[in-house]
Order: sequence, then structure tokens, then C-alpha cells
Amino acid sequence: MSTELEIFALEQDLELEENFTTRYVSPKKLFDFLLNNYKEYLTEIGTSEFNKPIFKITIGNGEKRVLLWTQMHGNETTGTLSALDLLKFLKSEQKIAHRILSRLTLDIIFMLNPDGAEVWTRRNATGIDINRDFLTASSIEMQILKETVNQKNYSLAFNLHDQRTVFGVNGKKEPATLAFLSPSVSETGEVTETRKKSMGLIADIYKEISQILPDKISRFSDEYYSRSVGDNLQKMEIPTILFEGGHFPKDYYRQKTRKYFSLALITALYYASTKEIWEDGYEEYFTIPENSTSFHDIIYRKVKVTGNKKNVVDIAIQYTEQIIPGDDEISFIAKIEDIGDLSILYGHEEIDAEVRCFYSPDAEFPEIGMQADFQQDEWLIVNGKKLEQLL
Ligand SMILES: [Zn+2]
Repeated sequence: MSTELEIFALEQDLELEENFTTRYVSPKKLFDFLLNNYKEYLTEIGTSEFNKPIFKITIGNGEKRVLLWTQMHGNETTGTLSALDLLKFLKSEQKIAHRILSRLTLDIIFMLNPDGAEVWTRRNATGIDINRDFLTASSIEMQILKETVNQKNYSLAFNLHDQRTVFGVNGKKEPATLAFLSPSVSETGEVTETRKKSMGLIADIYKEISQILPDKISRFSDEYYSRSVGDNLQKMEIPTILFEGGHFPKDYYRQKTRKYFSLALITALYYASTKEIWEDGYEEYFTIPENSTSFHDIIYRKVKVTGNKKNVVDIAIQYTEQIIPGDDEISFIAKIEDIGDLSILYGHEEIDAEVRCFYSPDAEFPEIGMQADFQQDEWLIVNGKKLEQLL
């Protein structure tokens, strides 16, 4: 069949939306771009707490309706960037794009939490985690999402997120660049007919994307979150897939992750539009390795912290992210996250300090939460990185 998905060719040919190349996405820039380029597909479905517009793009004319929403957590932009890539792909007139648009109608909500997005926070302007607000819907943004869900008879939903760099693939020394979940519908984790459908589609995504991204895909924790969107939509019998973009080696601005995320979105929609019985092969879902909390950003191994010869530890460093007003891109602040025997954990970067001695003018010993500016004998560590050798 000429329209069949060929993942290597798709990876080769995929063009990312070149107007967006940073991890930070300014709400204003996004809104202007959508208005200038996709106006005929656009509906304003409401405004945020601080009166920013929330836009929905509707594209395709298929019978089955799919709802996607991005950035309900303001500091998780990969889904937004990938949804822009998806739009570009769908307008490319490639056969797969044509197939998707003829079988499905997509409603894509861009940046559900623009107030959080502006200042790079997970929560909305009033401090609510929108993904824990389904039941009470005390946030405007969740009210908008619920209204949208209730307006149409959706066959499928994609909930697009990012996960932190601490997540790896269970049993492997690999970061979880992508993770997927078919959310639970109860504490017991029963596999309902609705869950089987999203599991079957995740199994298809995994089969395809693991060919171009081997060992870096995992299954997100299926712990039941009674207040979260995905869990509730699956209870309402709308098959729902949680997408998580995670870390790829040396890719802190997540542009490689974004490409795989975009390919995963296209693959998911391709299977949703061509596969007759979505639940087929759902058992394979359980063979995807689980997410595990196995990484820190940087680990210094064998750092001596006192004159006591035996007092040698590992020091783990984790970045926190911020947007400085006026900047186009986020910046990273390295802080000490853990100290001690960290032999069961990995670092995205690992440095053997070879028993060099910790020294800081501000602290006698390393402290959790302190900024990672210190010395190890002749090494100068600045914002977590070994800057230069002093001697
Ligand atoms: Zn999230």
C-alpha cells in the first residue's frame, strides 16, 4: 500500500516548524503565528485568568474526532512545538497527511495554560495545577477544556506533556526521551475496553518509534490520579493517550526530543486513521519498559568532603529552569540535589573527582539546595560544570 508509514523515510523528510526553534514559546509569538498562518482553522475558545486567548485549531474532515491539547502545564512546551510541526506536516499534502485528514477531524487546543507558559511555571496564574483540577474545575482553563470535551463526541484524546530529566528507562542506563501512558480508571488498574484501545495505539507508536529511538521510550506510571484529566476521560470511555517528552542526551533545549515527539504524534494519528480495531495488539503495551527515577543531570563521583579519609561521597546536581523576562530562551541554574552513596543512580554527565576535596567559601560541607558553585581541589565548578583547572 503506497500510503503505508515508513518511519525511517518519515524521520528523514520531516520538516519542523522553522519559526519556532527555542524551547521557550512566548504566548504572544504563538498567538500571532496562529492568527497569521492558520486563521481559517482557528477558534478562540476562551481566555485565561490573565485574559490571554486560548485557541483551538480544527483541521480535517474525517468522521472520527480527535482532541489534542498542549501545555496545560506552562513549562512543558514540547507538545506545543510538536503540534506546530504536525500542522506543517498535515498541510504538506503527503499521502499520510491526506489519509489522516480524510479519516479524522482534529481539534488541537494550543497552550491551555498561557499564563503559566509566559513565566515558565507548571501551574496557572492562580496557582492551580490544571491536571489535578478535573473534578472541581476551579480554574478557568479546566472549565474551557471540559466544555470542549463535552461539545463533541470524541473518539480519541491526546494529552501532551513534558517530563523531567530525572526519568530513565527502567533496567537501562538510558533517559526516557518519550514516555506514554494509557491512564488508569481506578485504583485496581483494570484494563477496560477503552483502555485497550489507547494501549493498542501506544503499542503501535512504540513499535514504530523504537526503531529510530531504541531503548529511550518508556511507559509512564499508571498510578490512578482521580483528579486528572486522562483518568477521567478514559472513565468517560474516550480512549486517551498521555504523551511525555523527556530528556535526550545533551539536548536540554529539547529540539531532538521535539522531533521524536512530532513523529510519535504523526504515527499515532496514522494508526488511528488506518487501523480497524484499535485494541488489536494491546498486550504489547505491557512489554514497554517502565519509567524509572534513575537520573540526575550531573553526578560528581568520589568527592572528599572532610579530612576524614573515608568521607568520600557522590554529589548530584540538578538544573532548575527559569525564563528571565525579555529573554527568548530559558536558562538553567544548577543546584546540589543529593549527597552520599549515589551508586544506584546515573548522571546524564558523570565526572570522577578522584577524591578531590570539596571547598566552598560559603559552606563547610556541600548542602542540598545550594547553588553548584564550588571547588574540588584545583577544579572550579561553576553552575555545575567543571569550568577550568586552576593549576
Ligand atoms: Zn505535565
